Amino acid sequence: MKLPPLPVTTVGSWPRPPELLRAQRDKHAGRLSEAEFDALADRAVIDVLRLQDEAGVDVVTDGEQRRDNFYSFVADKLSGVRLMTLAEMLDIVEDKVSFERILQTLDVPAYAIKNPTAVGRISRRKPLAVDELRFVKKHTDKPVKVPLPGPYLLTRAMFVREATATAYETKEDLAEDVVKLLREEIRELVDAGADFIQLDEPVLTELVFTQGQTRTFMCAALAATKDPTAELELAVSLLNRVLEGFDGVRTGLHVCRGNWSRDESTLLRGSYHPLQPVFDRIPVRQLVLEYATERAGDLVPFRAKELGLGVVNPRTSDIETVPQVRASIARALHDRPADTVFLNPDCGFGTFSNRPVNATDVAFRKMKVIVQAAQLMR
Ligand SMILES: [Zn+2]
Repeated sequence: MKLPPLPVTTVGSWPRPPELLRAQRDKHAGRLSEAEFDALADRAVIDVLRLQDEAGVDVVTDGEQRRDNFYSFVADKLSGVRLMTLAEMLDIVEDKVSFERILQTLDVPAYAIKNPTAVGRISRRKPLAVDELRFVKKHTDKPVKVPLPGPYLLTRAMFVREATATAYETKEDLAEDVVKLLREEIRELVDAGADFIQLDEPVLTELVFTQGQTRTFMCAALAATKDPTAELELAVSLLNRVLEGFDGVRTGLHVCRGNWSRDESTLLRGSYHPLQPVFDRIPVRQLVLEYATERAGDLVPFRAKELGLGVVNPRTSDIETVPQVRASIARALHDRPADTVFLNPDCGFGTFSNRPVNATDVAFRKMKVIVQAAQLMR
């Protein structure tokens, strides 16, 4: 993959157009066929590719247009997984009090979220992203990044003891099958020509910043108190097993502090420092991190890996200026070689399809500013 210095890319999602959101609802309600949905989604992906091209983005994604969000879309692709509304989950989880408190205090878009819950043995009925990649490659000559939910995120989300226990006794048992299906997926993505595969593991920050006092809504087992050290060990071991042997493709790990609300006070805060020893043990080529938000604190010198540097905040309507972005890049280049830095927003612009954190034109303008800053720095 031939790239300019300081390649510009996105983390994944772009807002979906209203007609696609309607189609998503109609498909789930059985009012629209898969083929009809795909025709609309194809158009949305082509639009997002055109926008990235116009903005000058170097490594493109399909904007996750076909997905309802970054992880629950797997329910459509896997056997043994059912989407559960948060209300349904509230019915079955043991610790209802904490569950309700989390939903209330965190500005959780409850109506926008359904959790992919393992209710049987899981396996790939369809690929998670290979068909997305094949479509994108037909419509661009640029290198393509494919975001996938990471093994720890998927395991944590899908394991809801009260619903999962008949198929898997422990979340570690479920994790075995998660590792297997992600390895199959990555193998096929590589064969289909993926240039960059990014695993999303946003929950890792929750483990270190809340010390087991779980307060994220992102995962099903959310009301359970956990030992953060043991959880991080599990995450490291799953990521190692998923990635083993895939050295020929650029791999990335995206970790942020939540990207569902514009109310920054509800999102986690803290530097990546406590995660440094964890990241050191994960064999990805690149860490895709948020740094535009001041909640992320100072740059942490992860020198052995490339850095996907977050330089714009996907949750604000204000467009960062070129000098601002240049200053952020200059700060990062202070103690690392330029050929190890990629530029991206802190996270996706869409996250949950029904409640995107931003509008398409703002996303486009922010990407354009990153490109302009990159060009000047080059
Ligand atoms: Zn993120």
